[in-house]
Amino acid sequence: MTNEMHDRAESLIAKERVEGLSTAEQDWLAQHLRECARCADSANATAKALRSLRTVGITFPRELARRTQFRVRLRARELQAREPRWRLLWAMCGASWVAGAATAPYVWRGLAWAGHHLGLPDMVWKLGFGLWWALPAMVAGAILLVENAGLPVRRNPGGAA
Ligand SMILES: [Zn+2]
Repeated sequence: MTNEMHDRAESLIAKERVEGLSTAEQDWLAQHLRECARCADSANATAKALRSLRTVGITFPRELARRTQFRVRLRARELQAREPRWRLLWAMCGASWVAGAATAPYVWRGLAWAGHHLGLPDMVWKLGFGLWWALPAMVAGAILLVENAGLPVRRNPGGAA
């Protein structure tokens, strides 16, 4: 069992949460986790932390947030080096969703407080919460739109003349 294999397992455990694994990667990881207690513990800790996040909702394990963000950043840099940009966008979305889940309860409470103090109808600050939540996806969508819209424009000057 080499360090390289443990590193690969660790990065696959993180990748599984962010963008999913191919069948081959799933098989490799399952095989490694059966044989390696260290990586199996790490996978269990990640799964357990994510489960408690889903059930408790409010208490987000800080250590997991740091770990996940670190992994996502590493992964983003890796993707940037050799993959198309939309994969980087997905990695960034993953990171902002993690950050979003971590801060959601505070944003909700903050908006509720501000809404009540400004005498706004509940509708307004709840809408604000929805917009805040959707913002990363909207920004990513806008970037993709701009990039897609940019393609034909770039092609035209060469082709038309
Ligand atoms: Zn291992």
